[in-house]
Amino acid sequence: MKNIKTDVLVIGAGPAGTVAASIIKQAGYSVVIVEKLKFPRFVIGESLLPRCMEALQEAGFLDAVKARGFQEKFGAKFVKDGMICDYFFADQFTKGWDWTWQVPRAEFDQILANCCEEMGIPVNYETEVTGISFSGSDSVTSVKDADGNYSTIEARYIVDGSGYGRVIPKLFNLDRPSSLPSRKALFAHLRDDKRLLAHEPNRITIVTHQPGVWIWVIPFSSGITSVGYVGDPSFFEEFPGSDADVFDALIKKEPYLSERFSGAEKIFEPRVLQSWSSTTEKFYGEGFVLTGNVTEFLDPVFSSGVTLASVSSQLAAHLVVRKLQGGEVDWDKEYMDIMMQGVNTFRTYVNCWYDGTLDKIFFAREPQLDIKKMICSVLAGYVWDLENPFVKDHFHQVKKLARILDMKQMMEEKGKS
Ligand code: FAD
Repeated sequence: MKNIKTDVLVIGAGPAGTVAASIIKQAGYSVVIVEKLKFPRFVIGESLLPRCMEALQEAGFLDAVKARGFQEKFGAKFVKDGMICDYFFADQFTKGWDWTWQVPRAEFDQILANCCEEMGIPVNYETEVTGISFSGSDSVTSVKDADGNYSTIEARYIVDGSGYGRVIPKLFNLDRPSSLPSRKALFAHLRDDKRLLAHEPNRITIVTHQPGVWIWVIPFSSGITSVGYVGDPSFFEEFPGSDADVFDALIKKEPYLSERFSGAEKIFEPRVLQSWSSTTEKFYGEGFVLTGNVTEFLDPVFSSGVTLASVSSQLAAHLVVRKLQGGEVDWDKEYMDIMMQGVNTFRTYVNCWYDGTLDKIFFAREPQLDIKKMICSVLAGYVWDLENPFVKDHFHQVKKLARILDMKQMMEEKGKS
């Protein structure tokens, strides 16, 4: 790659990078993406939420994604000890999208990157950012290509959408530990030949295996299904052997999965991810903004990752455009506070998932339908709708509801005895 100049450099061609790149380009600015890996590349994060459709639409990606025929997703299904809790996005409090997709990310991310190229945004694959120096808001970024050659990119603004690469936080010491405990995931893609034997075979299902350990089952339209176990790292230590042995043992042990998946062909050997939660001191600085996973990633349980990535990029892209036009931006108020509102809403639901509070709500004998709609909107990713009490006052509302359900159950049990 030659030394180049551009208005905006975007680091990373995941959903965060491509959504930001497209919106900035559509505003008339030159944009260059650098991506460390060759695409298609594997990345986890296969279940989307309806809210991300708004960002994909504004970025101009929806038609291309629709054309691929990915598995549509209309809700979320939670299973525990034979009990089922269903959420359907059509039945939610917030007005918005009521469906989305389940996607193998290698293909999905490739489509978004191709769309960027079609818009005239160069996507430089196998090009890794190795250093950045700022002079005011202007920057010079050093990149290394696949042949080991170095070059520079001069930019007026940088959007860092480098996901788990965390480029700017690492270079400028902005990384901070997460408040969430470390968890581990063991997962694989399986050929799902017995899918049609299952009830609602194409729906994403979250299965509680035991307290604190849950499983995702994400069927793709290709007939492959992603299956992953998530829990405290110590849970996995109870099982001897390789990751593949542990994965097989876990499939056999879970009644909800064993018949469908025992002996299923693995498309790749089971992989492990661990300690993914991370946060960053600041989501912006002079001449740069962080979007997507680089800002904060909590936990996979409510599939919030791609939605937070695309929504943060949608918002950040507009603010970058305003800066390039010479306008003022209050990054705390107009970006960081808004993103933290969404992240903190999800944080409550993640914590309440692991401490058992949500179990009481999801599997209550008489779910309160109005409240269910409000929680459904959170599960659809509408975590910025402050009209929704379960967003605005998320922690207290969830805890209060669980207490009421506890009291009801106690009174019922007293009544019986
Ligand atoms: P990424 O998708 O990671 O893209 C960043 C890109 O930047 C990468 O392609 C990378 O190669 C590139 N890059 C990195 N360093 C450099 C560098 N130095 N130079 C140039 N390029 C660089 N989310 C969901 O929405 N749904 C789910 O079901 C879900 N399940 C998950 C399960 C697990 C176990 C985990 C850990 C996460 C899950 N997530 C899920 C989260 C999801 O993986 C991320 O939130 C999402 O991929 C973030 O998108 P992004 O664009 O910010 O980053």
